[in-house]
Amino acid sequence: MPEGDSVWRAAHRLHEALAGKTLTRCDIRVPRYATIDFTGHTVDEVVPRGKHLLTRIGAATIHTHLKMEGSWHVYRNGQRWREPAFRARIVLATEDAEAVGFSLGKVEVLARNEEDKAVGHLGPDLLGADWDADEAVRRLLQDPQRPIGLALLDQRNLAGIGNIFRSEACFVRRVDPRTPTGEIEDLHALVEESRRLLTMSISKRRHQSLIYGRARMPCPRCGANIISFQLGDDPNQDRRAYLCPRCQG
Ligand SMILES: [Zn+2]
Repeated sequence: MPEGDSVWRAAHRLHEALAGKTLTRCDIRVPRYATIDFTGHTVDEVVPRGKHLLTRIGAATIHTHLKMEGSWHVYRNGQRWREPAFRARIVLATEDAEAVGFSLGKVEVLARNEEDKAVGHLGPDLLGADWDADEAVRRLLQDPQRPIGLALLDQRNLAGIGNIFRSEACFVRRVDPRTPTGEIEDLHALVEESRRLLTMSISKRRHQSLIYGRARMPCPRCGANIISFQLGDDPNQDRRAYLCPRCQG
């Protein structure tokens, strides 16, 4: 599942292509919103909130979420799409560009003053200008018994982190992701490390994994074999966590 860094990059690309431009075509391929057409309206901005994307058009907001399979592509007008058309859930075109959301997990149209319905539950945004580490720590500590590897994924505590970066941040801070949140020595440093890794991933365009996806390979710090195990609330999702049994915990 894409994490905050991918969503941030998608928002950035969409904002570059659409902001300040008038839509020449608007095709929302979701039955409930099929009659909504923003053609002739100007896109104000596209902003990320955790793993959510908000496309603001006048008094309305198109809220989308990539979920498992989703992606946004930006094409020059007339350029051939790199995904089959039947996967397109929404098309927003201007005079020079076409933004297409494929296989999006969520597409809904809200009044702009109702955005809180979609994103009001989110904790501080790791990649947001208003990031607040103290508030994230406060929220995490509301359930001190919960394993930190699960608490970090709960977007109500802090928004933007997923399966990859929870393993990476715990590795860097030498924390076993199964540790109860209330027993972490320096929770503040752990959330700041999560933010640092996500921010670095944006500037480098991709993240070179330290431990995630490297089961049975040597730990980059001590050489012990990395192990992996399921650590998740939802049996339908891949929630594999990675750990160096020697230098974490
Ligand atoms: Zn190690």
